[in-house]
Amino acid sequence: MNTTRMYEFAVIGGGMAGASIAAELALYARVLLLEGEDAPGYHATGRSAAFWEECYGGPGVVPLTRASGAYLGELGFLTPRGALYIGRGEDREAMEAFRASYQGTGVQIERLAPAALGERVPHIRPEWSEALHQPACADIDVAGLHQHYLAMARRNCAEVVTRARVTGLAREGGAWTITSERGETWRAMTIVNAAGAWADGIARLAGVQPVGIAPFRRTVAVLRVDPPAPADLPLVLDINCGFYFKPDAGRLWLSPHDEIPSEPCDAAPEELDVAIAIDRFQQVTDWRIAAVERRWAGLRSFAPDRMPVYGFDPQIEGFFWFAGQGGFGIQTAPAAARLGAQLLLEMAPDAMTAGIDAAAYAPARFAAALQSA
Ligand SMILES: Cc1cc2nc3c(=O)[nH]c(=O)nc-3n(C[C@H](O)[C@H](O)[C@H](O)COP(=O)(O)OP(=O)(O)OC[C@H]3O[C@@H](n4cnc5c(N)ncnc54)[C@H](O)[C@@H]3O)c2cc1C
Repeated sequence: MNTTRMYEFAVIGGGMAGASIAAELALYARVLLLEGEDAPGYHATGRSAAFWEECYGGPGVVPLTRASGAYLGELGFLTPRGALYIGRGEDREAMEAFRASYQGTGVQIERLAPAALGERVPHIRPEWSEALHQPACADIDVAGLHQHYLAMARRNCAEVVTRARVTGLAREGGAWTITSERGETWRAMTIVNAAGAWADGIARLAGVQPVGIAPFRRTVAVLRVDPPAPADLPLVLDINCGFYFKPDAGRLWLSPHDEIPSEPCDAAPEELDVAIAIDRFQQVTDWRIAAVERRWAGLRSFAPDRMPVYGFDPQIEGFFWFAGQGGFGIQTAPAAARLGAQLLLEMAPDAMTAGIDAAAYAPARFAAALQSA
């Protein structure tokens, strides 16, 4: 007799993507969530800069971010911050193009006068005169949201297994047999690939053609500045993607907006990237840096077109992609997970997902390119 447990859905990866979709699926189905590390959230999810910024990820991601806003706000995971995209005189055209690219998306972006910019960002150098204000931007309680989804999954009887690194996937008789590196096995009708930077590797294990999910390293340094950063400082982003910074308990979280190609791994910060961040920061402000207190890095994983990949694989039955969340996987999690669950359960869109065009994120969009490759 085969005693291996059988599930409708086996979600691989316990970061924000896996936890959120497992929680949505567990409301209706028998779900298994497998995480390779000792605790879920160790990789990209535990390393984010924790903001919800409507423009982040580009116009194609806006529907997911905006659709997630009400859920995040109602459950208390957002704290208002506001964002400023800043530039110099020569960036005026780029700023107008940026603003124009969001027209019709519902994102509110306003021009800010140079004097107002000086008031909002202390110590800013005068040549940084241009600013676009995005008032809806907020901080996200990432750990709170992740725990919320894990708790919701468990409450609805999903089985969450850690130290369960998946090393084998075999499909037989309409179901998958899943094997971990410790030799455990499970069976499931459908695999949900939420393995972040490792998503292409999971596809290979299943005999599925990878879509080309590529991890890129992103660094954050925590600066002690003198005077301390005011709590109401907005998130400040370079219009040319050279840096961003935001306050936290008097410190500044600063990123050089790096995007260094990487293998899937436990990413660590490089001193050079921290030095680049500081150099760029000093070109923007004359704020005194007293110390670099902490630094970390994580992997942001992108599909070739930088849009997320949500949907059934067009070739291999029972394999669902939930990957490529890039730099927006936290702020889009509620709507993405709801959409993913609706696609898996063949449910109609609801109020949260009604405005989202699922076809824009379907893995089938890569099929033609992969066939000709
Ligand atoms: C520095 C930085 C700043 C960011 N800032 C923001 C932000 O402000 N706002 C925002 O929305 N997003 C932000 N992001 C992006 C966000 O963190 C990611 O999009 C999101 O965390 C992706 O979640 P995930 O679950 O797909 O990936 P992960 O959190 O990496 O989870 C994938 C999981 O899969 C597991 N896994 C892999 N292979 C296997 C296997 N074989 N078996 C079992 N488990 C496996 C891994 O152990 C891992 O836990 C940032 C990212 C970084 C790095």
